[in-house]
Amino acid sequence: MSSRNAKRRAKIAAPDTSYQPAIIVDAWVPDYGRECENCGQTPCVNGVRDGKVVYAGSMCGVCTWGEAACIDPVNW
Ligand SMILES: [Zn+2]
Repeated sequence: MSSRNAKRRAKIAAPDTSYQPAIIVDAWVPDYGRECENCGQTPCVNGVRDGKVVYAGSMCGVCTWGEAACIDPVNW
């Protein structure tokens, strides 16, 4: 029996940090139920359009926009 070496190519859509996604939202709302995957802060960023969450970010405002002031959802 030949040893089976399962080489898997994981295709992961890594976010390109140099690319600003064109997400059209009515408002950015804080989600205090999730912690930032990058720094562990709350809240995470949610984008809402027409009353629905169209963007459920895994990162806080600071990590999403790279601005220290974005720790406060007021600045989103
Ligand atoms: Zn963060």
